[in-house]
Amino acid sequence: MLCENIKGCLFYNDKMDIDSALGKMYKRKYCEGDKTICARYIVASRIGRENVPANLYPNMHERAKKILEERGLSLD
Ligand code: SF4
Repeated sequence: MLCENIKGCLFYNDKMDIDSALGKMYKRKYCEGDKTICARYIVASRIGRENVPANLYPNMHERAKKILEERGLSLD
């Protein structure tokens, strides 16, 4: 299912530097597949889209975990 954050998402709108084949793969896997495992989506849904770092890629789960932990939240 399409991620509802597609509009305005820096990753989906090609505002983040990434190899185009890898970018396509990530879009299929996360944005058009399972948004709930996207690091950007996870951070946005817990603490707001304005708090998603501009350079956080969908596969950066460890970093998403740290961002949430800094605010006393967990990934689960
Ligand atoms: S799945 Fe992640 S990268 Fe894709 S549009 Fe949603 S928030 Fe952006």
